[in-house]
Amino acid sequence: METSQKKLPPIDAAGQKHVLKGMTLEELQAWCTERGQTRFRGTQLFEWMYRHQVTETAAMTNISERFREYLRENCILTTLKLQKVSRSDQGTTQKLLLTTDDGLHLEAVSMLEENRHTVCLSSQIGCNVDCDFCATGSMGFLRNLSVGEIIDQLIAVYRLTEVPVTNIVFMGMGEPFLNYDRVLTAADIFHHRQGFDLGATRITISTSGILPGIKRFIREKRRYKLAVSLNATTEAIRTRIMPVNHTWSIDQIFAELRLYKSDSQRKIMFEYILMKDINDSPEDALRLVSMIKDFDCKLNIIPYNETDGRYQRPDEEVIEKFLEVLYNRRGNIQILVRWSKGQDIAAACGQLAVLNG
Ligand code: SAH
Ligand code: SF4
Repeated sequence: METSQKKLPPIDAAGQKHVLKGMTLEELQAWCTERGQTRFRGTQLFEWMYRHQVTETAAMTNISERFREYLRENCILTTLKLQKVSRSDQGTTQKLLLTTDDGLHLEAVSMLEENRHTVCLSSQIGCNVDCDFCATGSMGFLRNLSVGEIIDQLIAVYRLTEVPVTNIVFMGMGEPFLNYDRVLTAADIFHHRQGFDLGATRITISTSGILPGIKRFIREKRRYKLAVSLNATTEAIRTRIMPVNHTWSIDQIFAELRLYKSDSQRKIMFEYILMKDINDSPEDALRLVSMIKDFDCKLNIIPYNETDGRYQRPDEEVIEKFLEVLYNRRGNIQILVRWSKGQDIAAACGQLAVLNG
């Protein structure tokens, strides 16, 4: 029952509809009370949008017809359109091309393995960190994604696959820590018990080493997993392939990471792309182990996915040798080798780039 029959305010003066997708529980509660509704109405909307992933107001059966009509006419409950799906790895990897309301394109990837369903989400359209090896970097930066657009990527995957999602990784297009507030708000909604109810350790945020973001993440004691794209064992090589290292060096990043309180569920993950003749020697492997061995960490080795041909994946024997050195010296470091999924549909790490404009 409505708390008040007072007239609901019309859409705002600029004729803009209210974008509800992406609002937090508190924001939805406040938004509802401003319109003469109860706070509980906000809770219901939160659950419909995130727990049940409903976008049609008709399905919101515990909300009055009058308010549903108001929502239908004045609000935006979905921010992305699914444009295209590409499949590979016998259909277990699917890349979704999605379109925003302002006509821009972005991508999300769904990867099904035995008992895991991992979704790789984009945080920005393009990226201005400009890593030399990355296809997303080469498309430049268009804009940050909104909270709603981040969430709608996950909902598009749920709709398409109808398989519950077990893990989320912010490893798609963009640098999550350059869109910190929106990415963390989306992660909070993924984690929220009345939202998507995903465990905090099932959400991983990968950064190229944006020091202010890392500092903030640690200071705020965020419980999501942190992944750092290291990719080199010397400042000189890292600066060459990742110009961001000019601004925030390996040394500075490591000094900050020493403040991170890891635990068995929440180890820092270092990502290391293996690139031919750049960072793939046995000496690199030795340096890599000695750099990270004091951290409670995981190491993710990613044989490079070729994009425009400027960098190559090392030969098989070179990769084997590199891994052998790592395994022999690894101590407590947990090593994972990620033979990327979806290379044939350019859905693998660093291959996400779409034409915009
Ligand atoms: N901007 C963030 C997250 C997106 S990139 C970051 O850089 O961490 C996700 C991962 O893909 C990073 O570890 C990046 O180093 C890696 N990557 C980029 N291009 C790649 C490529 N062509 N092959 C393999 N991994 C790549
Ligand atoms: Fe941006 Fe990450 Fe690609 Fe670097 S690797 S350009 S930070 S998306």
